[in-house]
Amino acid sequence: MNIEDKMTRRKVIGGIGAGLATVAVAPVLGATEPAFASTGSTGQQIQDPRNKYPKPPFKGQSQPWPGLAAEMDPKPDHGETSYKGSGRLKGRKALITGGDSGMGRAAAIAYAREGADVAINYLPAEEADARDVVKLINAAGRKAVAIPGDLREESFCTRLVNEAVRALGGLDILVSNAARQQTHESILDISTEQFDWTMKTNIYAPFWIIKAALPHLKPGSVIIGTTSEQATDPSAELYDYAQTKAATTSFVRSLAKQLAPKGIRVNGVAPGPIWTPLQVSGGATQEKLKSFGGDTPLGRPGQPVELASIYVQLAAEDASYATGQIYGSTGGAGQP
Ligand code: NAD
Ligand code: MG
Repeated sequence: MNIEDKMTRRKVIGGIGAGLATVAVAPVLGATEPAFASTGSTGQQIQDPRNKYPKPPFKGQSQPWPGLAAEMDPKPDHGETSYKGSGRLKGRKALITGGDSGMGRAAAIAYAREGADVAINYLPAEEADARDVVKLINAAGRKAVAIPGDLREESFCTRLVNEAVRALGGLDILVSNAARQQTHESILDISTEQFDWTMKTNIYAPFWIIKAALPHLKPGSVIIGTTSEQATDPSAELYDYAQTKAATTSFVRSLAKQLAPKGIRVNGVAPGPIWTPLQVSGGATQEKLKSFGGDTPLGRPGQPVELASIYVQLAAEDASYATGQIYGSTGGAGQP
């Protein structure tokens, strides 16, 4: 994949600067099992991905929907202290839905540190999380625009885009990331109201937002959707949610073909089990939460920060030939 190519290339370039000592370390890897090994040629610590972040068993925990990252135990890592930018998105203007927590927050922090101004949308109940994100964007020296509101209303989706465009002075990165996920053991437990809620949030809102954004997107702009491994490997208890993710993967591929002639790239990110408020506010059963991510080959859930570089890569100018793609990050199980 492009990301791997890029990382390998960077390592090689960094390795030259870092001298032979770095190269000499390579054969040692794999011979022993250092959990937190030496510093790599990128200047970042090389770490064993199995031990890098918390693993199950987790405490049972439940929050009223939509949940707050600040109240999770352990707290998710969105890159607050670790993400380092290198000017890859300098001067860009991004709108991220669900930018208060989870993958959206990780993308917001990374985009700001890469030099972009960032508008985030979230629900009014998430103001506390959103405030933390605004502070982090400002601390990166970039403009932060906070636009709370419910995406189930077409009129709000239109206003969201217009406000973001006005406040940012344009728009060239749209991350459609917000979603609703509630677990139901049986299809019989899903009311028409619940079904409609999931469809409105996950399918209608991106449709309305993209329609509103399109007139503002110049050639070189990007749209990124957050889909899921659920698109291709749906869980029994996520009947309604999983089909919305199949729809997301599909709209990414369709729109990529439709918008390539306008110079607009459209891609998707497909996470596996990631430690976010969505999971502790009805997205997973208590039983699943306690062992969350334990059944992946890496044996743990992902943290939002582990996907940040994918959102950056898909938005960056040097990914100019990537469109219609779904980039997975699943800990080894599931395919995008
Ligand atoms: P999250 O709870 O941090 O983010 C979801 C966000 O959606 C919320 O913060 C909220 O602001 C927003 N949202 C929901 N309903 C809304 C509405 N009606 N109006 C406005 N905003 C609304 O959780 P997350 O896991 O980071 O979710 C982000 C994306 O990742 C979603 O698209 C989700 O489907 C996808 N995803 C998550 C996982 C996982 O395991 N966490 C796995 C695969 C895909
Ligand atoms: Mg949230």
